[in-house]
Formats: sequence, structure tokens, C-alpha cells
Amino acid sequence: MGSRGWSAFRYSSTEARRWSTPLARQLAEAINTTGPIPLAAYMRQCLTSPHGGYYTSPKDGRDQFGRKGDFITSPEISQIFGELLGVWIVAEWMAQGRKSRGVELVEVGPGRGTLMDDILRAIRNFRSLASSVEVVYMVEASPSLREAQKTLLCGDAPMEETKDGYKSTSKSLGVPVIWTEDIRFVPKDSGKSPFIIAHEFFDALPIHAFQSVHPPQPDITTSTTKPHGIITPQWRELLVAPTPLETTHTTHATASPEFQLSLAKSPTPHSLLLPETSPRYKALRPHPGSLIEISPEALSYATDFALRIGGDTTNNNNQPSPSGAALILDYGPSSTIPLNSLRGIRAHKAVSPFSSPGLVDLSADVDFTALAEAALGASSGVEVHGPVEQGFFLQAMGIRERAEQLLKGVRDEEGRVRIEGAWKRLVERGGGGMGRIYKVMAIVPAGGGARRRPVGFGGDVDV
Ligand code: SAH
Repeated sequence: MGSRGWSAFRYSSTEARRWSTPLARQLAEAINTTGPIPLAAYMRQCLTSPHGGYYTSPKDGRDQFGRKGDFITSPEISQIFGELLGVWIVAEWMAQGRKSRGVELVEVGPGRGTLMDDILRAIRNFRSLASSVEVVYMVEASPSLREAQKTLLCGDAPMEETKDGYKSTSKSLGVPVIWTEDIRFVPKDSGKSPFIIAHEFFDALPIHAFQSVHPPQPDITTSTTKPHGIITPQWRELLVAPTPLETTHTTHATASPEFQLSLAKSPTPHSLLLPETSPRYKALRPHPGSLIEISPEALSYATDFALRIGGDTTNNNNQPSPSGAALILDYGPSSTIPLNSLRGIRAHKAVSPFSSPGLVDLSADVDFTALAEAALGASSGVEVHGPVEQGFFLQAMGIRERAEQLLKGVRDEEGRVRIEGAWKRLVERGGGGMGRIYKVMAIVPAGGGARRRPVGFGGDVDV
């Protein structure tokens, strides 16, 4: 086709294009009317739109996890992972004086439910903790994963819709299991001890991306700005828009993805506000070219965890003492601010995050330091430990000993090789190992300080 034909088409409408998915068309139409959108808005739609989001629409009977899915996670690799997180909760509950009631277990982003199932099995062996657990909350955006979790945790027990959320009964502990779509809907009852687990959840929360740039030089012939005035670099947001048609229309395998990032031409509300929220970002602004990623949703989850555990210390009427803990396990740098970290995964391969929206899993590095800052800023009733490498944490939790114990009960060589391979993959630091890239961070009640480090973070189990 001649180039005139294409240019006639190009600006006509988004209808003229063949979009990879219905969600791609919908995003393109929206951008056509509103203009380019923040990366966070794109991510949010791709992952959890009710119309074709990656987690929120059925995938022809298959799910996202495992060999036939798109990716595999630690709890799916070995049952030991969840068991050790269960033991961590037991140890933390003991260190906090073994409360005899009011314990709540909360998991955000529970996937297939495997992790919570393994945690509950481990906790069941500690009778006094098991009898203190009042309720299990599952925060899950995906209706199909909620179903899978319900089947695993509650078997045939009925599921009813209540004012708090969908509710059934745990087959391990006999207590209610309640599903909500957001942690905001989990009641914040004072005097409870919430133990919160977030495994590979924060990486799925939408990020905004910014770059520091030299603002355009004022025209000195017309400008009233003094010529000697110092023009400091400013943050600009990276926005998503469809890739112009001529660049995607190619028969080669090199076709560009349907969407692309470009720098906003002027400040956006997000670029004016978010990078001002921490000295870590402010320190980078004077250096043009600096890139930063910020996830306001991640920060509000960390804030929420801290308030549940440490209490709202800004009002000091009758504050119950801090109690509970949160364990955050994910990938990301220990102290630096993530940049260029958005990735797409499909069928275990890295693909462009801007292709086939809704069919590709999107995730970004977790900014652990930002989460720690948010938690500590929200409540003076908490302290933060870590992040430490997952390999270190699991070794300290006794992964080797637990694997040896499991191996004793296995007769066949294949089973032995599987168990050996699995636990090593969770702790190994190189190759396909998850021991170094994945990190673990804990939010616990303040006051322990140097006297008490949680187990897995340099402390001992005090059993
Ligand atoms: N923790 C599990 C699953 C990780 S995948 C595991 O390790 O195997 C991410 C999980 O978070 C999925 O269950 C997904 O449906 C859920 N999720 C993603 N974004 C969410 C959001 N914004 N709110 C609630 N749940 C979300």
C-alpha cells in the first residue's frame, strides 16, 4: 500500500486499526479523547480492568500460574515456603506475648491460595495460636482466583455474600475466611492482632514514572525572566499512548508494540506532587536524565499495614498497644529507587509491557525503602526490619532442616530430586535462583529495637 493511503487512515479513528485485544482498542479510544495517560492508569487497566484485565478476566480455564501459565511463584515451587512463613507468624506471635484472642490473618494478592493453605497447615500445629485466630481475610481483585482460593481453603463449605465481603469457612481452622477487593474494606477493629502477608503483590501495583529534564529555555527577547535566573530541572511524567500507525505497520517481526511511552510536554498533577513526597526523589531532581518510579498505591498499602499494626499515633486517646506484623516478600532493590523496571511476562518469557494489553502480566520492582518510609511515617507504633535477601531469610527460618525432614519420608529418586531442586531454587543467589533478587521486609510493633530482632532478620526463635 502506498504511503498516501496510510496517512489518510492514520488520523481517522482508532477503528481503522486492528487491535490485539478489546482492551487495547478501549485504551486507545480513551487516549484519543483524553490524551496520553499515566503509566499507572495503563497498568491498572491492563491488570485489573473488569473488561479484559490480566487478573480479572477468565483465561479460557487456565490460570496465570505454573508451567502452563505465565509465571511461577515461590509458594507454587515448594510447600516449605508457606510453612516457613507460618512458622514466622508463630514466632512473632510468641515474641509479642502469645495473645489468646483477636488474631487476624490477612493475605493481599493470594494467587491460587497455596501460600495461605500452607500457612494455615503450619499454624494448625501450634494449638494455642490456632485457637487465637478469629478470621482470615483474603484481599483479591480477581473473581476467578477468589474462586480457586475458596476451593482450596474451604472445600465445599458454602460461600455467601455479606456486608464485609464474600465469606466461607476455613477447613484447617474452622474460622471465617472473608474476601475483599481492597484492604480498605478489611475492618480496622482496634485491639486486634493482624498478621499480614504480601507475597508478589506489591510488584503488581501501578507505578508512575518520571524523568528530570531541563525546562525549555525562556525566549530572552520576550521573557521577563532575568537572563541570569537559574532554571532548575523539573520532573516530567512518562505517559502512554498508541504507537503511531506507520511504525507498527510492518510485516517484519520487528513490529513495534502497540503502545509507547513518551515524556509529557509540561508538568502533570502527578509530576508536581509525587516526587515532592520524599527527600530521596528531591535529591535526584537537579540531575537531568534521572528516572524514578513511584507507586502511590503501594505506599497507601504500606501506610494501611502500619496503622493496623502500630495504631493511629496522631490521636492519643486510649490507643491499644501495637500488635501484629506484616511480612512483605517481593523483588526490587534494597535501597535505591527503581527505574525502567516495568516488565511484561507471557508464557514464561519477557515480552513488551506495551503489547497485547490484558494478556501480558505486568509488574515493576518494589521500592522497599519507600514502603519503609511510608510505614514509619504513618505510625510511630511500628518499626521496620530488612529488607533482607530471601535466601538469607529462608535459611534463617530453617529451610534446609525442613527439606531434610521432608526428604526422610520420600522413597523415590524423582521425589527426592524435586524437593532438593525446589528448596535450592528458593534460596540460591545465582542462575535461576530466587534467593538474591527477592527480598523480605517486616513491619512489627515498635519497641523491640536492638533488643529484639524478628526471626529471619537476625533474631532467634524464642520458643
Ligand atoms: N501471592 C501469590 C500471587 C501473586 S500474583 C503467589 O505468590 O503465588 C498477584 C496476586 O495479586 C494475584 O492474586 C492477583 O489477582 C492479585 N492482585 C493484583 N493486583 C491487585 C489489586 N490491585 N488488588 C487486589 N489484588 C490484586
